[in-house]
Amino acid sequence: MHDLITAAIQDADEEILDEPTSEEALDPESPRIAELGGTPIPDDGAEEVRHDRSPYIQERFALLLSLWCEHVGISRSQYASLLQILLTLEDVRPIRILPSTLSTLKRRFKAQFPILPLRRKKIPVVSAKLPTLSAAERQLVTSTTCWLYFQDPISLFSNMIKSPIFRESMHVGMAHFVDEPSELWESLSWASSNRSTSGVFARYSDGLPVFVSDIVNYRCRGLDCSCAGDDQRHIRRVQAVAKDFSSHAISPGAVTILVQPYIQFQHASDELKALLTRKRKPPFAENELVIHETLIRLQEVDIIQRVSRIWHDYKFGSMFSKRIGEPANKTFVRRVINEAATLVRPICQLSPSRGQLEMRKYGRSGLLRMFENTNCISVPYQLFIDGFGVYRNMYRSIMGIYMIPACLSAADRAKPVNIYPITLGPHGSNFRDVIASLQRLSVLDKGLDINSDSRHESTTVIAFCMAFLGDMPQQQDNSGFRRPTAARSCRNCLIHNYERADLEYDIHKYGRFHFETQNLRSHIQETPVRKRNGELKKYGVSADESPLFTIAPCLNLDTFFPSDPCHSEYSGISKLAHSLLVDAILSPRGREEYAWQLRRFQFPFGWGRLQSPVHHLESYQLQEHARASVTLPLLLRCCLQKSWIATAYWSALSKMFTTTASALETIVQVFVAIAKSNTILVSRKICLSDRPNLLPIIRTARQGLQLLLEIAAIATEAVTSRRGRSQLLSEESPSRDMLPGINLETPSKRAKEFRAIKQRPNVHIGLHYPRLAEEYGVPNNCNVLAGENKHRYLYILSPLS
Ligand SMILES: [Zn+2]
Ligand SMILES: [Zn+2]
Repeated sequence: MHDLITAAIQDADEEILDEPTSEEALDPESPRIAELGGTPIPDDGAEEVRHDRSPYIQERFALLLSLWCEHVGISRSQYASLLQILLTLEDVRPIRILPSTLSTLKRRFKAQFPILPLRRKKIPVVSAKLPTLSAAERQLVTSTTCWLYFQDPISLFSNMIKSPIFRESMHVGMAHFVDEPSELWESLSWASSNRSTSGVFARYSDGLPVFVSDIVNYRCRGLDCSCAGDDQRHIRRVQAVAKDFSSHAISPGAVTILVQPYIQFQHASDELKALLTRKRKPPFAENELVIHETLIRLQEVDIIQRVSRIWHDYKFGSMFSKRIGEPANKTFVRRVINEAATLVRPICQLSPSRGQLEMRKYGRSGLLRMFENTNCISVPYQLFIDGFGVYRNMYRSIMGIYMIPACLSAADRAKPVNIYPITLGPHGSNFRDVIASLQRLSVLDKGLDINSDSRHESTTVIAFCMAFLGDMPQQQDNSGFRRPTAARSCRNCLIHNYERADLEYDIHKYGRFHFETQNLRSHIQETPVRKRNGELKKYGVSADESPLFTIAPCLNLDTFFPSDPCHSEYSGISKLAHSLLVDAILSPRGREEYAWQLRRFQFPFGWGRLQSPVHHLESYQLQEHARASVTLPLLLRCCLQKSWIATAYWSALSKMFTTTASALETIVQVFVAIAKSNTILVSRKICLSDRPNLLPIIRTARQGLQLLLEIAAIATEAVTSRRGRSQLLSEESPSRDMLPGINLETPSKRAKEFRAIKQRPNVHIGLHYPRLAEEYGVPNNCNVLAGENKHRYLYILSPLS
């Protein structure tokens, strides 16, 4: 640069020597005159742009390369790497033998590397899923099949466990009990499964493994208990086994067994016997055991022996099956009492442990065989299933199925490299056919011996699905329930759509539960065909049971289909509250003030700013709703004033509160409660003090939102005069798209629609998150963001993006 400037100065000096020396020309004020062929050209005040033409002619190869670089628009870094490649050449011979077409070059390149084997299978294409075709064309494709390509799961898993990097990053062995679980191996989903342990078990005195679901006798440590001389005094069922690192641990890492007590007739109190017979229920039979729904911690040494031959009656008390008589000659279980011993339920309303379902499928001998080989490894995984458009500009659904190893930490599971595409179901194919093609997953589900090289012995790989991930409609399909528009659309409870606003709804009493759903399926099978559709509709179940039983035969309908908290909380609850604030609570002036305050709000370091919610809330992404949900309570707490609030909303709000301060405080508190609820549902850890209060925290936030919606409905109803209505339409709701579906034309309709929001599926889902937190450590362990992010890699491949 310096040289250029020096050259420019020298040139300028030379020019001065050639300039005319007349007074007019030297006068800086006077216009300069140039001459061309004798014709004077007045000075236009511009100057000529310099172009330093090289005195040398560029070498031919460099000239051609430059032309090519200009033509294809090569970047600096691409040029730098091309140069590096060219510099490896000693002569041009390697160039002469290059193939003439790019596709050949790429094909030869790919053939250099070992890749995991792909498999393919012909599956039918369903005509109903090709709506753009004419009837005749559709007829033609009814009999059409197409290839489904998929990754061979057996090769995938055997290669994964051979990789030292993968082995180092995976958790192997028993679950860990900790005070603040965050990883999947710190959760019940790991501790309550027999197959997750890689063969590490608590053992009976004879060396055999203590399986989850075993029923055992044990000796308690009570000094005055009769169990010292009576081995059969206590009967318990194993619910989970783990190494205990929590504050309850006898010693850090001690193997701890969680058991559920079974009460025998001879040890039952008179109160319990009376409780069981309430509402004309059968009395406590002498050969009956009653489950007490509580968990007790045991050590390996406390266990005396395994108890066999106890029959569980999952039809008893079912809404969908007739009661069968009690067995006379065997010990049986049919009822459970809650922890406080105040309520009795049939055991079909109890969620079975994972170990129990594994035992039902493979039997004790099957599980023993699975872990016969001392060299065995468990690889539990999550299966993400999602329909998406391959091209950004087309709504054509392809079914992406990706495997995410659950033995990796939450941070590793979020990385695209750890998400393995298994298959992409072709457009027009049936979900059931796609899943049926993946049968090889069921081979891994029961354990498969994989021959390693000569230096190693064979290894048994037990790779099984721990949970299915997906958005709400997909999870309904996965689990065999109807989509959210059905009359009963919750896959965990029997709540009716019009009851969904009720956040006190008893999800235990009216839960669907695993065994009860199977009872419902049997009931539908037994229903005459002409009435069958009515029953399916009434209970919100799809015509067939979940197709996923083929690849995950031990799945639990209660727990295997978690909801995604990021979608329900950020683009559900948080977005609703924010829209309500902008659209209904704030006046036009309030909106302006709010947008202005948001612009000057001091965001934490590293946070992107938010676009104005007044105009762009609809285009907010999940992360923007997340940031807004944290920012809002702080901003409102500092700045919200009475003058910001729409007149009609204020008059409805102020009727409920005695002072202005308390009315304003109410609005702020709702946004505070939503932020608090988000932190427990979407963060990677829930602190110890919050864990027992999950339900109240979630409920408070949602009830607050419902209150603000109700006030909006009342305020709308109050605006009945013509003037008021026109004011509402012209001034107070310019952003009428904010709450989609809200009708602004008639106040009563609008009020009704505000109330309808109170019972959206996302509002109800909150009641089921505490169970999810118990099962998976934190609800966030079931988020679908990593899977959705993986779709990006397919967009890149698409020709239109
Ligand atoms: Zn005892
Ligand atoms: Zn529910």
